[in-house]
Amino acid sequence: MAAETGTNPFNHLLKTINIGDKDFKYYDLLQLDATKYDKLPFSIRVLLESAVRNCDNFHILEKDVTNILKWEDHQTQSVEIPFKPARVILQDFTGVPAVVDFAAMRDAVVRLGGDADKINPVCPADLVIDHSVQVDVARSVLRYAPNPGGGSVGRTCSRQQRNPPCSICVNSGLPILDQVCPFHQQKTEGATALQKNEELEFERNKERFLFLKWGAKALQNMLIVPPGSGIVHQVNLEYLGRVVFNVGGLLYPDSLVGTDSHTTMINGLGIVGWGVGGIEAEAVMLGQSISMVLPQVVGYKIIGQLGQLTTSTDVVLTITKHLRQVGVVGKFVEFFGPGISQLSIADRATIANMCPEYGATVGYFPVDEHSMKYLSQTGRDEEKMQVVEAYLKANKLFRNYSDPSEDPVFSQIVELDLSTVVPCCSGPKRPHDRVTVVDMPSDFKACLKNKVGFKGFGIPEDKLSTTVPFVFDNQEYSLTHGSVVIAAITSCTNTSNPSVMLGAGLLAKKAVEAGLTVKPYIKTSLSPGSGVVTYYLKESGVIQYMETLGFDVVGYGCMTCIGNSGPLPDPVADAIEKGDLVTAGVLSGNRNFEGRIHPLTRANYLASPPLVIAYALAGSVLTDFEKEPLGTNADGKNVYLRDIWPSRDEIMEVEHRHVIPAMFKEVYSRIQYGNERWNELAAPDSMLYPWDPKSTYIKSPPFFETMTKELPKVSGITDAFVLLNLGDSVTTDHISPAGSISRNSPAARHLASKGLTPREFNSYGSRRGNDAIMARGTFANIRLVNKFIGKAAPKTIYIPTGEVMDVFDASQRYISDGRRMIILAGKEYGSGSSRDWAAKGPWMLGIKAVIAESYERIHRSNLVGMGIVPLQYHPGDTAESLNLTGKESYTIEIPEDLKPGQAVTVKLNDGRSFQVVARFDTDVELTYFHHGGILNYMIRTML
Ligand code: SF4
Repeated sequence: MAAETGTNPFNHLLKTINIGDKDFKYYDLLQLDATKYDKLPFSIRVLLESAVRNCDNFHILEKDVTNILKWEDHQTQSVEIPFKPARVILQDFTGVPAVVDFAAMRDAVVRLGGDADKINPVCPADLVIDHSVQVDVARSVLRYAPNPGGGSVGRTCSRQQRNPPCSICVNSGLPILDQVCPFHQQKTEGATALQKNEELEFERNKERFLFLKWGAKALQNMLIVPPGSGIVHQVNLEYLGRVVFNVGGLLYPDSLVGTDSHTTMINGLGIVGWGVGGIEAEAVMLGQSISMVLPQVVGYKIIGQLGQLTTSTDVVLTITKHLRQVGVVGKFVEFFGPGISQLSIADRATIANMCPEYGATVGYFPVDEHSMKYLSQTGRDEEKMQVVEAYLKANKLFRNYSDPSEDPVFSQIVELDLSTVVPCCSGPKRPHDRVTVVDMPSDFKACLKNKVGFKGFGIPEDKLSTTVPFVFDNQEYSLTHGSVVIAAITSCTNTSNPSVMLGAGLLAKKAVEAGLTVKPYIKTSLSPGSGVVTYYLKESGVIQYMETLGFDVVGYGCMTCIGNSGPLPDPVADAIEKGDLVTAGVLSGNRNFEGRIHPLTRANYLASPPLVIAYALAGSVLTDFEKEPLGTNADGKNVYLRDIWPSRDEIMEVEHRHVIPAMFKEVYSRIQYGNERWNELAAPDSMLYPWDPKSTYIKSPPFFETMTKELPKVSGITDAFVLLNLGDSVTTDHISPAGSISRNSPAARHLASKGLTPREFNSYGSRRGNDAIMARGTFANIRLVNKFIGKAAPKTIYIPTGEVMDVFDASQRYISDGRRMIILAGKEYGSGSSRDWAAKGPWMLGIKAVIAESYERIHRSNLVGMGIVPLQYHPGDTAESLNLTGKESYTIEIPEDLKPGQAVTVKLNDGRSFQVVARFDTDVELTYFHHGGILNYMIRTML
C-alpha cells in the first residue's frame, strides 16, 4: 500500500492520467532518470515502481530506489533491496498455518487489551484450496453397464448382436469378451469418479476446511476459493490476476508473492511474482516488505516459428534443460525477441510455471497486445482493461516484442529458435532431463542398465526382460520394465493451456475413431485446473472421446502433480512388486522426483497432454512411435501416432471457436458459491476462532502466549547447550520434513496418545496447523546427520548425561532444566524449499540462536522473523577451526544498541571466546528481533 502523502519523498512523481473520462494518479517513473529507466529490464521496472510508491525512509529508503534505478551497475554486487508486492496468494497446505497465525494473533491482541478486528491482511490475500483432493477413484465408466449398443449388465458385447454391427467396435480388433466393449461403455447412474473423489476429500479434510471457512468469513481482505474450483495458479491466471491495481484511483502494477513455488506462472501474464515461505508471506500480508538481493536478469531471446507438431510443453521442457545448463539460480529471466508473439499467454504461462525447475526466481514476459487479448478472452472487464493498457504504456511497462529498440539491457543473453524444438518428454527422475520422443526407447533402455542415479535404475542384465503376468477384471495382461501404469493429464503447467488440452481431446477423438483403446489397468485421469477446461472440452465435443479412453475428470486440483495419485489396482501393484519392475508414470506435470508421483512408478516422464494419451495408448515408454503402430483401424491398417496427431492449425481453429469469454465469466461468477459441500459446512461466525481442543489438525500455537505489551529487554544468551551439531547443507526438509510421519517418531507417539492409528497419521504437510505435531517433527528427518551421533538419524544427545534421544525429547529435557539452546551448523544452513516451519519448529524447541558458516537467504530472514538470532562465523572460522566440540556451554553477548552486521562475542565455559557476526542485515530486522519476531512486532503496532 502507498505510504501516506507527505511521508513519501517521491510524491513529487505523482502524476494525473485521464483514461475514459476518469482521472487516475500514478508514480511517473520516467521522471526519475529516463535514460537509466529505459535500459532497465521490465521486471526490474516493476520492483522500482514498488520501491518508489512505498518509500517511507524506514522500511524502504530513498537509497533503495537509487540502488534499483542503478541496476546496471549494482546487479552483480549482491545489493539487498526491499520489495513490497501488491498481493499474496496461498494454497491450502501453506494457507492453513497462515490463517492459524492470524487467529492466534487475534487472541493475543485481545489478551493485551486491543481490538481483534485490527488483525487482518493489509494487502489482498487469495487462498485457493487445491492440494487436498486425491485420485482415489479414476475411470467413471463401468464396464458392465447397460450401453447404447444394446449390451446389458454382465452380457456379451452387443457388437455380435447389432444389425448392422457397430463398425467401430467390430473393426477394433478387440477380442470378444464377456463384457461390453469400450465403445459402448457409458456412465452409470451412480457417482462419477469426480463425485467420489470430492466426497472423500471432504471426509478427510473437514476440520481443515471448516477452519479455512471461518478464515474466509472472519478475515477481511482474504478471499478463499473453495475446493473443487481449480488449481491456484490457473485460477490466478484466469481470474485473480489484476495486471494493474487501482486503489482509490492510484494505479500501480500487480505483483505478488505466493506460498507455492509455481507462483511464478503468473509472470506469463506480465505480473511479477514468485514463491516464498509462510513467514515472509504473512509479513507481506501484514504490510511489511521482503528483503531480496537485486537480481541479475538473463534475457532469453526467442526467435523462429514452432513446428506444426510441437506443443508449448515441448518448448518449456526444452527451455528448462537449456536454462539449467546456463545456470540461472537466484536470477530473473526475462523473455524477449520476435518469437514471443508466436506464443499465446497460456504458452507463456506454461514456460513461466516451470521457473523453479530451471532455477530462476521469475521467468517474466512483459505485457503486450497478446496479454490484452488474453484478458479479453478470459472475460475481464473492458473498462478496466483500458485502464491497464493506458497505465502500462504511460510508465513504459508495455512491450512491443517486435521492436528491438525497446529491448532493455540484460546481464546475459541466451537464445532459442522455436523451429528447433521437437516433441519431447523429461525424465525419468528430473524435470530438466529432457529426452526427445524419438529417443525415448533407447534412453529408457540405457536408464534401466545405468547405475542408480538420476538417469539410472541399476537393473541387472538377467532381470532386464522380466515379465510379470497378472489378471485384471478376469483378463490376463502382463507388465514389464517401462510399462505405463499411470497416465495423468494434470497440473496447472498444462491444464491452463487450451491448445494442449484441446490437442489431447482431438487426439483422443481420432484414436477412438481409429479403434484404439487404452488398457483398462492403466490409471488414467484428467484433472482440469479450472471449470473452464471442462467447459471447452465439452463444447468442442472432445470430452466424450477422452472419457472413452479412460480420461475422465477426477477432480479440480493438483492431484497427480502433487503426488495425490491415489492407489494403483492391487493386481498391478502386486505385479510391480513381484517383478521389482521399473514401471512408468506419464504426466503433464512439472516435477518427477522419485517418490513424488507414486511409490510404485520409479520412472516418471513429464509430457504434453496429447503425449500422455499417446503413451497410455501405447502402454509402454519403450514404444517407438515412428516404427510401431498403436493398433489397427477398421480396414485392418496399422494406425501410427502420426496418423492421429492433430496439427497446430487444427487445434487453433477449435480453440478459436470454443474458448470464449462467456465461459470464463460463467465459471468464475460462481467460484465462491459453486461447491455444495463447502456451502453446507457450518463455520463459526466469531471474530475469534473457537479452537477445538480435540482437533489434531488445528491448534492454537503458543507463539504469543508470554508476550507483553511492552518491549522485552534485550538480553544475551547465557550458558546455552548445543541441541544439534550440524554440518554443511542442512536443508529445510531436514529441519522440518513435509512427508509421512514415521511410526516410531515423537509425532507418531503424540498422535497415538490421542487415539489415532498409523493409517490416520497423515503427513507433516497436512498437519502444519498443529504446532504440537510440527514441534515433534522438527529435525525428525531420518536423513539428518548430527555430528553428535555420527550417522544419519533424527537423534541427538542430552549433553549432561550423554544419553541419545529424539531431538524433541532432548529439547524438552533442556527446557525443564531451564537451559537455553543453540544450534551449530556449517555452510548454507536452511537451503532447499522456503519453509516457515523450519524457523517456527526450532522456536518451538526453544532454540535461541544458530551459529552457521552461511545461511540460505530466505531461511535467515525466517529465523529473524521468529526472533531467533542468526550468527555467522567470521570468514575462515568454522566449528572445526575453533575446536568446538559442541559439548561446551555458550554465552553470547548481545548489546542493547546492537547494529546491523555487528560482531558479538561468544564465550565458552572453558574460558575460550570467539567473535561472530550478528546477521541482522537491516534496521527493520533489528526491530523485529527486539520485538521477539515479526508477528509480535505487528501485534504491538495494532495495540
Ligand atoms: S498443480 Fe502442481 S504445480 Fe500446480 S500448484 Fe498444484 S502441485 Fe503446484
